[in-house]
Amino acid sequence: MKVKLSTQIFLGILIGLLAGVLLGEHTSFVRPVGTIFLRLLKMIIVPLILASVVTGVAGIGDVRNLGRIGGKTILYYLTTTGISVIIGLTLVNLFRPGVGADIGLSAIPERLKEGGPSLLDTMLRIVPTNPFQAMAGADVLPLIAFALIFGAVLTTLGEKGRTLIGFFEGLNEAMLKITDLVMRLAPFGVFALMADIVGHTGIGVLKPLAKYMAVVLIGLLIHGAGVLPLLLHFAGKTKAFAFAKQMSSALATAFTTSSSSASLPVSMECAEENAGLPNRIVSFVLPLGATINMDGTALYESVAAIFIAQAYGIELTLGSQVVIFLTATLAAIGAAGIPGAGLVTMAVVLKAVGLPLEGIGLILAVDRILDMCRTTVNVWGDCVGAAIITRSEA
Ligand code: ASP
Repeated sequence: MKVKLSTQIFLGILIGLLAGVLLGEHTSFVRPVGTIFLRLLKMIIVPLILASVVTGVAGIGDVRNLGRIGGKTILYYLTTTGISVIIGLTLVNLFRPGVGADIGLSAIPERLKEGGPSLLDTMLRIVPTNPFQAMAGADVLPLIAFALIFGAVLTTLGEKGRTLIGFFEGLNEAMLKITDLVMRLAPFGVFALMADIVGHTGIGVLKPLAKYMAVVLIGLLIHGAGVLPLLLHFAGKTKAFAFAKQMSSALATAFTTSSSSASLPVSMECAEENAGLPNRIVSFVLPLGATINMDGTALYESVAAIFIAQAYGIELTLGSQVVIFLTATLAAIGAAGIPGAGLVTMAVVLKAVGLPLEGIGLILAVDRILDMCRTTVNVWGDCVGAAIITRSEA
């Protein structure tokens, strides 16, 4: 009997979880399997983004169409990120998980103290000075910017342009085919990643932070299983459950890798092959979403910031909460699609309202587990966006 790949991946997660709980740190020996799986996914990202954005833009054709689709995409991303922050802020003010929380501070790694680049820096860096350097460094936003310009220009070159577009279409298909092959390893990859994370984090760290985690998870659930499906239903005229099933490999990859970027090849494949969404929309909406659309991260950042304030006994005014709303949205846009990126940009939010950066030490222990969940919502938000934009263009 042939078991479906998504079922195999799900089993991989379950068995990994069990192995992690039972074997603890002894799970280290499976780590190389997870590392290989991750490296293979990362191997695909740069050529895939280049090829898919170029062909996507060329497929959209007219610059006016591109402008319209781009506008809708950004509007969708900002709206849903905003909604998720509001959900987070409401819950954390309602349940107040940080009040009376008596948790020792652990040391914060140096890299977190810097708090990532400023918003202006991030915006300026969208324009690459050297597209090859952007590719070599897997610097996604400048790469997308270059590919957008390049693809748009190809459509104006007539015959010569068509030859090159054909080349990139071939490259795109090749990368998707490689994704397909890599995914056959996925059940083992997700098993190893899961066993390693659970084995090393242990269940013990969860207890003192249980209330904080619960608030983040409830928020993610409301957004991922409530708001987004409703949007999908009404604006995308798509059945949420069936669509989630079609995306299940992408969601499982997001959960186990904690990386929107690493999940991108899989989400593109699911969107095109399983859900039948058109390449010209998928190849524009998903790469962009993997880097800037992070509903889960935005929600988590707002909850975490207020949790830290509560734990320190600092009362935040309504004004400060508005600042948190804005900075959490921006910090999520600025966060890279890699594990722990949200924790780094947290510093921006804390600084903006004058909260002690040491507060990050409070939430460090459970960050990886929350990262898995928020990344799943991040990727789910991108996929729902692709379906909604497709519908609006039909
Ligand atoms: N790991 C998340 C992602 O890749 C970003 C974050 O740390 O919140 O989507």
